[in-house]
Amino acid sequence: MIRKAFCLLSLGLCGAVAMRPAPAAGLRADHLMRLSVATWAEQAQARLDLSEYTPYRYFTLTSPDRAVVDLRGTRTGPGLQLPRVHGWLEDVRMGLQPNGALRLVFTTRSAAAMHLSWQRFGAEQRLVVRLSAAGAPIWHAKKAVATPQGRDIIITVDPGHGGIDPGTIGIDGIEEKNITLAIGRRLARLIDAQRGMLATMTRDADVYVPLRERMHIAERDHANLFVSIHVNDCSDPHIKGAEVYILSLHGASNEAARLVAERENAADRFGGMNLRGTSHTLASVLVGLSQAATISRSMVAARSVLTALERAPYVPVWTHAVLQAPFVVLKSPTIPSMLIETDFMSDPSQALKLTQPWFQQSIAEAIFQGILAYFRIHPPAGTLFAAERAARLRQMVASNAG
Ligand SMILES: [Zn+2]
Repeated sequence: MIRKAFCLLSLGLCGAVAMRPAPAAGLRADHLMRLSVATWAEQAQARLDLSEYTPYRYFTLTSPDRAVVDLRGTRTGPGLQLPRVHGWLEDVRMGLQPNGALRLVFTTRSAAAMHLSWQRFGAEQRLVVRLSAAGAPIWHAKKAVATPQGRDIIITVDPGHGGIDPGTIGIDGIEEKNITLAIGRRLARLIDAQRGMLATMTRDADVYVPLRERMHIAERDHANLFVSIHVNDCSDPHIKGAEVYILSLHGASNEAARLVAERENAADRFGGMNLRGTSHTLASVLVGLSQAATISRSMVAARSVLTALERAPYVPVWTHAVLQAPFVVLKSPTIPSMLIETDFMSDPSQALKLTQPWFQQSIAEAIFQGILAYFRIHPPAGTLFAAERAARLRQMVASNAG
């Protein structure tokens, strides 16, 4: 159909940018093993991969504007290099303090707000430092997690299109890429405001990020869920409302063939499962099993989001079933993924509504409620959500026994 063909085409046009280094491996005690930085217009994110949980403090200084993080009793690991920076983030330096703390200083072009969060992946520990210029719209409410009882659930929000790829264009030249970024930011803010959840974004500026890079960003962020935001298009201007997609079996089988073919080179991409040296048959079976599990989790998560959209006031839904399509961004074999066509740009009244903050917020809140409902029932192991669910179940058992 035209609308599907169109959106597939516009998705397929995406092509280049946004490199993020992989997390550190082979960590040793009490060391900063790796430091990586990504910069956007008036925002930056630094990732500090550490050998273990390290008490820290942070503050800002002026003239020039600096953001400072002190890591108690920490040394630099072997081979640690300072990342090259550019744009709003002018400089990164580090040095040992007399009290034994390792100090990192981020010099910014304007006063920065700081938000820190701690992430834990098995033996790996990571401190994420988010910096944004005063008044910048994202990296809001998240508070630093100082003593984690369980790690945050990580959700990668993917605002569709961007940069040279405007996506669908509606009445008055309204561009899909701007709507998806606005809704994506609102969704990320809601996620960050939720205790036990953390949002990462594939883009937080008007930049062009290739489709596979979006998926790889989610994998490098160890995301538990990938949510791509789009706006639909159709030849019939009277069609309006949301649709939710997951990967089709056809798309999955094409991707499986690719993963098996590339298994010798891309072993580390496959969710930690090393396919190097496996036979074609065994690799096919392993990839197929992982994909099947991921698609079934994607379906449950997508149904939860669709239900939340159906319940939301002011948000129309066009198709009341989860749809499946071979969208490239949904092809991660290990991360449950969904693509939400939030509405139809081809309906002029909906296109205008999509530029309105209240409507963007209504959509973002509905998606967030769906995600929240899904993870309350299906929390990943080791997360705060899992600990809280276990506590709820123990309480139920105790009250039944009493
Ligand atoms: Zn799109």
